[in-house]
Parts: sequence; structure tokens; C-alpha cells
Amino acid sequence: AKYAKNQETIFDKIISKKIPADIIFEDNQCLAFNDVNPQAPTHFLVIPKKQIPRLDDATDNDKQVLAHVLLTAKTLAQERLPNGYRLVINNGPDGCQSVYHLHIHILGGRQMGWPPG
Ligand code: 5GP
Repeated sequence: AKYAKNQETIFDKIISKKIPADIIFEDNQCLAFNDVNPQAPTHFLVIPKKQIPRLDDATDNDKQVLAHVLLTAKTLAQERLPNGYRLVINNGPDGCQSVYHLHIHILGGRQMGWPPG
């Protein structure tokens, strides 16, 4: 997918409930839902409701929301994955970002390898 500024992504449609998702948590600032193509037994995403296409686009004005999505990811992961887990943010083409709405991947339920491919 190409990066187009101010473009509605599939994640905006999930936020606005135009398309369904397996939502596991929601509050006024963020949404968490299971990844449709899981790469581990547990694989969900936490996204800000604010349109921030890439981590590259985040600024000092986004400090509060960035902290909020990270702490939400932690809380949900800790509940579900007591043996540990991995957080991933893909940014841009080399990072394999495919949806240009900032999201944190939370992966767990199996032993991860390092370094990731
Ligand atoms: P990225 O590659 O941008 O870091 O990750 C995008 C993730 O979103 C992928 O893991 C992909 O499986 C997931 N994804 C893409 N479209 C949808 C969708 O419509 N629903 C859900 N639940 N996940 C999606």
C-alpha cells in the first residue's frame, strides 16, 4: 500500500464501525482488535483513533496518545500473555508497513526468534 496523506485507511473504517473487526478493547483514544492474518497464536493491534499515518508522523503533540496506546498494549498483553510477548511498529516500505494508520502489533503465545526477519 502507498502512503497517501489524509487518506481514510481500513483502520479508520474499523474505528467508525463501517467495517467489522474482532474488537478486544476500546476507549475514547484508542482501539484494540485481533489481526485478521495472525502471525502468532495471539496477535492483536492497538491503534490510536487519531489519524497518525506512520510513527514518522508523530510529534510532541502526540505524546499523550502515544503513551496511552503503549500502556494499553501493555495492559492487554500482560493479561493475555503472562509468559511474555513482543511489540512491533512497522514504519515505511523497509519496515513492511502496509496500513498507513499507526498501529502497535502485539504478538505472543509462542517463542519468538531474534532478530526478526
Ligand atoms: P503492517 O504491515 O502495516 O504493520 O500491519 C498491518 C496489519 O493489519 C497486518 O498484520 C494485517 O494482517 C492487518 N490487517 C489488514 N487489514 C485488516 C483488517 O481489515 N482487519 C484486521 N483485523 N486486520 C487487518
